[in-house]
Amino acid sequence: MHIQTRLVHNGGGPDPATGSVAPPLHLSTTFERSEDGGYARGYVYTRMHNPNRDALELCLMNLDGGQESVAFSSGTAAIVALFHALEPGTHAVLGEDLYFGTAKSLRALLEPWGVKLTFVDATDPARVKAALTPQTKLVFVESPSNPFLKITDLAALAEIAHKGGARLAVDNTFATPVLQRPLDLGADAVVYATTKYLNGHSDALGGAAIFKANDAFAQKVRMIQGLGGGVPSPFDCWLLLRGLRTLPLRMREHCANAARVAQYLESHRAISAVHYPGLENHPGHAIAQRQMSGGFGGMVSAQVKGGRDGALAAVAKAKVFVRATSLGGVESLIEHRASSEGPGTRTPDDLLRISVGIEHADDLLEDLKQMLA
Ligand SMILES: *Cc1c(COP(=O)(O)O)cnc(C)c1O
Repeated sequence: MHIQTRLVHNGGGPDPATGSVAPPLHLSTTFERSEDGGYARGYVYTRMHNPNRDALELCLMNLDGGQESVAFSSGTAAIVALFHALEPGTHAVLGEDLYFGTAKSLRALLEPWGVKLTFVDATDPARVKAALTPQTKLVFVESPSNPFLKITDLAALAEIAHKGGARLAVDNTFATPVLQRPLDLGADAVVYATTKYLNGHSDALGGAAIFKANDAFAQKVRMIQGLGGGVPSPFDCWLLLRGLRTLPLRMREHCANAARVAQYLESHRAISAVHYPGLENHPGHAIAQRQMSGGFGGMVSAQVKGGRDGALAAVAKAKVFVRATSLGGVESLIEHRASSEGPGTRTPDDLLRISVGIEHADDLLEDLKQMLA
């Protein structure tokens, strides 16, 4: 069955107990023991398992074609759990154009704990290969990356990682499983900030890690979920499953609108550079065409000729676009990325990051026109 059909029925059909078409929400934190003292229905306590979380994890696992799927209370919790599953004394190689918060959390929490981190330009597989050491257990990248929308050849990286005795994990938040399936390209794990496109309505924080094999590493992440306790609430799982029903539909519109926005900005005289993998002159365009399908995503970054002041002045005039950080919701957002990242940012101060929503493209172009006038 096609992904679009499967997602519409992602709750598994009407509830057998009541016939309710929309799935029931199980807020209970605790579940009854049977008379023999066991748990005949499988549920004990919501931190360990919950029906809404189980349904979500199953849906996400099938979306990426994995064998195990572990949901978390945020994208960051999922990523930190993945690195926490490495042993102290090990090493990881990461793409240097990465969500700012990921690098910040891992440096603050995992490095002192004993996981060494090396950041390289992952668009060049030779650099990843050169950074591997006998202790390297994980290669972690985003493609498209944040905020430069750089493209990494995931199949090439999977081969390099495996030859070096490491796993490849991909943060697929920008692409979503609708546009890109890293496990099919050779990756061992995929992580998401489900906060973004997967939920799609800017109203639920969440994360997930999906694994190609249900091996000891995947089970360690599962253990960290239950014992670490960074689990999503039943209601957030419910919201996320609801958002997922329209994911293919939304991604089509995000991609079409982002392509229009990127083309418009590319031809604008106030803009010095546009970063969007769908543009033919993007350095990763050919690879993106090969490893993505159905579009190039809804994220666009642009550099403004007027520098920091020009960029801030443009954002200040936004009317349809909302001035806010984050991405992946139905509404278009625009932000001066360096300001959002704060101290330690590597992002140039003339860069605007745009999450292109599903409004009518003409209204978005009109707004950009008056913002850049
Ligand atoms: C937002 C984001 C994260 C972090 O997710 P949170 O839910 O905010 O913790 C990780 N990776 C990428 C690419 C993101 O955009």
